[in-house]
Amino acid sequence: MTDSRRILIVGGVAGGASCAARLRRLDESAEIVIFDRGPYVSFANCGLPYYVGNVIQDESKLLVATPDLFAERFNILVRTCHEVTAIDRAAHELVITDLDAGKTIRENYDVLVLSPGASPVRPPLPGINLPGIFALRTIPDSRRIREWIDSKNAQSAVVVGGGFIGMEMAENLTHRGLAVTVVEAAQQLMPALDPEMAEFVYRRLTTHETEVILGDPVAGFEQSAEGLVVRTQSGEEVPADLVILSIGVRPETKLAVGAGLEIGVTGAIKVDETMRTSDPDIWAVGDAVEVKDYVTGEPCFVPLAGPANRQGRLAADAICDRSVSFRGVQGTAVCGFFGLTVAMTGATEKKLKALGWTDYQAVYLHPGQHAGYYPGAKPIHLKLVFRSSDGRILGAQAVGEEGVERRIDVISMAIQNGATVLDLEQAELCYAPQYGAAKDPVNVSGMVAGNVLRGDVDLARWEQLRSANVLIVDVRDAAEHKLGPIPNSINLPLSEMRRRYHELPRDREIWLHCGVGQRSYYALRFLRQHGYNVRNLPGGVHIYRAWYPKGRPPTVMP
Ligand code: FAD
Repeated sequence: MTDSRRILIVGGVAGGASCAARLRRLDESAEIVIFDRGPYVSFANCGLPYYVGNVIQDESKLLVATPDLFAERFNILVRTCHEVTAIDRAAHELVITDLDAGKTIRENYDVLVLSPGASPVRPPLPGINLPGIFALRTIPDSRRIREWIDSKNAQSAVVVGGGFIGMEMAENLTHRGLAVTVVEAAQQLMPALDPEMAEFVYRRLTTHETEVILGDPVAGFEQSAEGLVVRTQSGEEVPADLVILSIGVRPETKLAVGAGLEIGVTGAIKVDETMRTSDPDIWAVGDAVEVKDYVTGEPCFVPLAGPANRQGRLAADAICDRSVSFRGVQGTAVCGFFGLTVAMTGATEKKLKALGWTDYQAVYLHPGQHAGYYPGAKPIHLKLVFRSSDGRILGAQAVGEEGVERRIDVISMAIQNGATVLDLEQAELCYAPQYGAAKDPVNVSGMVAGNVLRGDVDLARWEQLRSANVLIVDVRDAAEHKLGPIPNSINLPLSEMRRRYHELPRDREIWLHCGVGQRSYYALRFLRQHGYNVRNLPGGVHIYRAWYPKGRPPTVMP
């Protein structure tokens, strides 16, 4: 081990605190000091929406570790309310403002770790600084929002931005009894998802009386006699007692830029696979850094707690001369609101399209989270994206009430191991009736995709439904067809297929569908073996309704 080094860490939450604790476990002799400009370190940022919503009532529960604990347990000095304002790389010193004492100090380092995180985007819109407009990043932010709700007896809120934090805030403000409107600039909620999968989110929000405005960016804010008014670009005006800004975050790169460290194409700090910056004595981790997308290989900026924690630990290993390499980030994420769980891992179709990839396909399925005969089975709507040429899994998204995150975690691990859909077919997973099915949804996703990979089934595309010159055949029972037919479809139930298939034209392409895609797959196999030119519309009517929602314009894949 190297002899006593002075290791300074900027930022003492997810990445910084993990790095500090790991460093101590590896190097008892180092002097380790954490600086954070806030009054706390190691707090649970992810718990803040639930503190606003009163689900977490005791603020102290948000403190994972305190400066005293760092001192006693790890001999790590934590200096809160100390803002690092510059890095003097030549002198190996930090310039720091002691915010309580109001004075500037300098501290020397042998090794520096930057984990300053990311700050909420606050666009320069008219009225953005009016009282009652909040972003959520710290414990004091959440305290201010709680106090505003209580002191103003707030009845309504606008959440600007329908991403993960926006969804959590919408739910938590509803918990507090506020009427919530979500305003989202994109044409879909949760822009990290593919647009048709986001349709399930839209439905859940609107059935819980959340107003949703899509495709209409906020243009500005005004003060009225009653409170705030949020104006959108289309001219809509939404009154609100408070506004939450959740339109994304930007990496905190001020220190790095000031010190001349290399910045990546995403605008975050460039690091190598050991989290080392362009200065060999400076490491950087967490929301402030650019990493490699594990699936596409592209540089990316993925502000999530898991990667920040793992990077902090890995940087400590590297600083202590252990041989380590960060694999990259897949964007594995989960979010829950109004009883719905939304989870994803790897690449979306939208992302692949934007990168110009064409060698992929997607399947959909809607299995129960456990055996259908066991009470309480609820569907998981799952989309699996895979490479057409070799079946490598590229990404998955799932929405449902239970068991969603477990399936995405399994697929996430499969992606990390470079697995194919055929590996999912063979995956051996826990099963008892109350937990899963003998063919788990993960297995089924592999089987459905495996059918495509092996050429047993050709897929049709829902986006082309209205323009394709094909015959659409619904193979559900007549009563099901009558209840909700797809326009211009004819009905030939699977149960009558063997008797009546010769009624179908042989000189026309036929697209089959049913409720979820399973009966139409059976019909496809039958018809194909009788010489018909058939394709399956994946995911059935559930996915039709996601592409063509009732009373709203069709979904568009950007
Ligand atoms: P942070 O944890 O943000 O820590 C950075 C620290 O550095 C801050 O305390 C800051 O004050 C300090 N700092 C910055 N600049 C300086 C300076 N110049 N001098 C001194 N100190 C400085 N992720 C998930 O994976 N799941 C979730 O459910 C989830 N929910 C979230 C909910 C909310 C409301 C928020 C805000 C984030 C959420 N995240 C979630 C994201 C997650 O919290 C971050 O990815 C993670 O905390 C990043 O860790 P970090 O160490 O890079 O930065």
